[in-house]
Formats: sequence, structure tokens, C-alpha cells
Amino acid sequence: MQQTHDTGVNFSTAWRRTQLETLQRMVNEHRHELLQALYQDLGKHRTEAACTELIIVENEIEYFLKHLSSLTAVRQVPTPAVLLPAFSSVTHRPLSAPACLVIGPSNYPVSLSLQPTIGSLAAGNPTVLKPSELCLHVSRLLQRLVAQYFDPSALVVVQGGVAETTALLKEPWGLVFFTGSERVGKLVAAAAAQTLSPVILELGGKCPCYVDETAPADIKAVANRIIWAKLLNAGQTCAAIDTLIVHVSLVDKLVPELVATLRQQFGVDPAVGELGRIVDPGHAARHVALIQEVERAAAVVDSPTKMIVGGSATCDARSGYVCPTIVLNPPADCRLATEEIFGPILPIRTVASRAQAIQVMRDMPGTPLCLYVFTKSAAVFDEIKQKCPSASAMRNDALVHLASLEFPFGGLGTSGYGGYHGKHSFESFSHQHLSMYRPCAPGIDLCMARYHPFGNFKGPYLVEPAVRLPSVPVLHCKAWMLLLTVAGALRYVPAGQELVKIAATALASVLERSAAFLREGA
Ligand code: NAD
Repeated sequence: MQQTHDTGVNFSTAWRRTQLETLQRMVNEHRHELLQALYQDLGKHRTEAACTELIIVENEIEYFLKHLSSLTAVRQVPTPAVLLPAFSSVTHRPLSAPACLVIGPSNYPVSLSLQPTIGSLAAGNPTVLKPSELCLHVSRLLQRLVAQYFDPSALVVVQGGVAETTALLKEPWGLVFFTGSERVGKLVAAAAAQTLSPVILELGGKCPCYVDETAPADIKAVANRIIWAKLLNAGQTCAAIDTLIVHVSLVDKLVPELVATLRQQFGVDPAVGELGRIVDPGHAARHVALIQEVERAAAVVDSPTKMIVGGSATCDARSGYVCPTIVLNPPADCRLATEEIFGPILPIRTVASRAQAIQVMRDMPGTPLCLYVFTKSAAVFDEIKQKCPSASAMRNDALVHLASLEFPFGGLGTSGYGGYHGKHSFESFSHQHLSMYRPCAPGIDLCMARYHPFGNFKGPYLVEPAVRLPSVPVLHCKAWMLLLTVAGALRYVPAGQELVKIAATALASVLERSAAFLREGA
């Protein structure tokens, strides 16, 4: 990979296009195997896996193949007038050698491994991908396919867990792109700091969803969207609804609708429906423990906590099945309220007012990736967005905004930093290389005045005001060069020499008069 940088081949648009086309071919030719591996690791239904993993990747590749030429084009930028004549440009170049490191999470092991990889390759970086060790079928398949399709100087997959990732993080990287938990994110950032490798952290957290008293009248549609966003990938989505907050006036309508919707979408026994599985028995056991904790609270006489649907009895942690569970008003100090849930458990908090809902959301730990509000009122949405910090917000739906390639998707505060998707990936994985060219010839240097001696006049009245002059747009810069070329050519024509002399004398006299005026004024 160092050699790829040394030859500079990866700086070319052709190299980048070749890698993207190779990846496109790899995904297209192995769609079935990828879907199969996703089913084996996470029990993902074919359609769900296609929409949330493969098509996301295919769209991203298509975006880059379409826009690569314009993204990689050299961009001329204005130059400060005092520096004229000069040409300034910015080029998106690969980050520093030898490569970028992408560390993938377990919940969307194809899309969240390949989507950053696409951005990295499009930006010209040789890339090392380390998928999650919890998705063995996917990570083995990715390793085999990448080895089969790619030259190892462009892309390699390294399999492994903590030890292998820790070893990788000892190396310097152009960028470490990490998607995963807040806990591991801190370790990754600390390790990367030792080599001064820049880091992007795409982390998780608790995303609240508030159903205001001004919610849309179609409560069934609201319930459909909430259940879908909660149970997609069995709740293992970074931006999933973690906790539902409902205005008390709507509880009696919404809660039965949520239960009915759950049955409609996943059947009376979700264990035999299309619900995905928790990736790891250990994580599933944690979910069962979370449910058992609130079951104990609900069993206390007169407890405000109520089990609405689901429960621990039908869960089977060993097979990764966690029964979709809805709990009303769990205790404020239970683990459901304090930890990222990341599973098919929906706690509902009832609130008496919008102010109380805002307080509940502000009191939730961390800064959420997304904030969801169901309201007909744009003003209510704006008020909540303003009072409750979050990396993104959505009104009257949840999760679907992640599909947009126009948004720079990323976290805020504890949900991480740095953004990606589409051109934002390209920016994140590129170094913006600055370049300036100033022709060097006698008589064309506007900033001759920068040279010593400044004296009492030249400094304050010429040099300092000149430095304050604004930048000259690119077009003017070119016009300036044209003017200089014409003036230069005139020197070789007798009449032209006269013209140049007249212009120079006129300029000198204007300068002298201004200087005299300023001296008198002073
Ligand atoms: P995780 O943090 O356990 O693992 C993520 C990656 O880090 C894996 O590749 C793993 O091998 C590696 N890793 C684990 N322990 C490590 C260590 N000690 N040192 C170095 N590397 C280590 O996360 P996960 O369980 O795979 O994914 C779930 C988490 O990811 C949730 O918190 C979720 O919210 C978050 N997530 C965030 C986004 C986002 O875009 N913001 C997307 C998906 C998931």
C-alpha cells in the first residue's frame, strides 16, 4: 500500500474508478451469498437486508461513479489581490500513506463496512477493512471476495477482534474510520492519538422519540412508523428509537395501536416471523436481563411500571431471539433508562406537558444521533430541536433520513464526530491540497512593496492597506494575466513602448500626487 502511494497511481481518477467498478462487480456477482451471510449472522429477512445493506452500498458506488470526475477536478479559488498575479487551486488528494483503516460494527456488517470503504477508495486511499468479528459469515465472505477481486495494494480485509484491532491501531493511518460503541470509540481515539492518526467516530447512544399532543391525527400511521423504526434489524440500529415519550393525552390511543401494529408487522408469535436476531448470544442475554429488571419493577403492587407486551419468558438468548417488548413507565434508574438499548425493547415514558417531555429528553444520557418528534406543528418541532441537542432530527418519521446521500451523516458529542455519505465521505477521506503559482518575472510583482526598507511612508500607506485588499475572483485573476501578457507584448512594438511609457508615467504621477496628499494630511 505504501508503494501505491509512492507510485502515485492512486492519485488518478482512473485508479479510483477501477476500484469502485471492481467493488460494484463484486457486490453484484455475490448478492445472493451476501444476503445469505446476513441471514446466518443476524437472521435478516432478504428484503430488509437488500434495502438496508446491499442497495445502500450499490447507491453509494453509483453516486461516486457518476460524480467522480467533478469531485476530483482541480478547483480554482480566488487569490488575495495583493498577491497577484497568481493562481490558487485546491485538489482533493488521498490522505497520508500508507492507507486508511475502516473498523466495522456488527449490526450492518455489509453496509457499514463497505460504505466508508467506498468513500475511502473514491478519495484515492488504499484501504484496510476490519469487519466485526461477531458477524463471522459476513466477515469471512468479505475477506474471501476482496482477496479474489482486489489487488492487495488497494484493498484488504483483516479479520479479528480486540487483539487484532489493537495491533492495527498501533500503526499510523491516513484516517481511522470507526463505527461502533461509545466505549470502544474512546479506546480507538486514544490509540490513534499515539500515531496522530485522524479519527472519525460513528457511535451510538439513546435516540428519543416524542409524540406530542399535536401529533398527526392518523395514529395508526404513527404507530406503524414507530414499530418499524424500533424493530428494524431487531432494534440493532444506531439511530433506532431508543425511548418513546408520549403526551398523556395520547397514551390510551397510541399504546393499543402499537401492540396491534406489532402483531400486524411481525405476527402473534414474532419468533417465527420476519424479525431479525441479536448478533451475539451475550448481547441477547443482556437484553433479557434488561427485560427481567423491569418485570421485577412491574410486579410490585401499585407500580407505575406496566408490561404491555412481550417479556423475558419467550426469549431465547442462545439463538439470539429477544421477544419484542413494550414497557410503560419503567423506573428512571433502570438499565433500560440509562444504557443504549440496541434491541427490540421499547420503553414508553408518559409526560403531562411538552416542557416535561423536553426535560426528559435533556436528561437522557449523551447526545443522541437522532431526535424524532411526531407533531403537525413546525414550530413545536423547531422548539424541541432548539432545546434538545442532537446530531440530526426528523419530524413525523424515524430512521429513513439515513438513506439520503446528501446529508453529512454523523454524530455530535457522545454520538461521535465527523460525517460521511456521498460527497461528505469524499471530503472526510480526502486531503484538501492547496497549491499556488506566481509567475516570476521582473516588473509584474505587485507585492514588491513587501520588501524592506518600509520606511515611514511605504509601510502604513502602501503595504498595510494592500494586505487588506480582498481576494480577486478567479476570472479576474485570469484577466489580470491576459493584461500582463498584452502589456508584455506591447514592449516589443515601437508604438506599444510609447503606450507603456505613457501608462507608467501616468501611474507614477498618480502615486506621487497621492503620496504628497497623504504627507500634507499627516
Ligand atoms: P463495538 O464497539 O463492540 O465493536 C465495533 C468494532 O470495534 C468491531 O469491529 C470490534 O471488533 C471492534 N472492537 C471491539 N472492542 C475493541 C477494543 N477493545 N479495541 C479495539 N477494537 C475493538 O460495537 P458493535 O457491537 O459492533 O456495534 C454496536 C454499537 O455501534 C452500538 O453502540 C451502535 O449504536 C453503534 N453504531 C453506530 C453507528 C453510527 O453510524 N453512528 C452505526 C452502527 C452502530
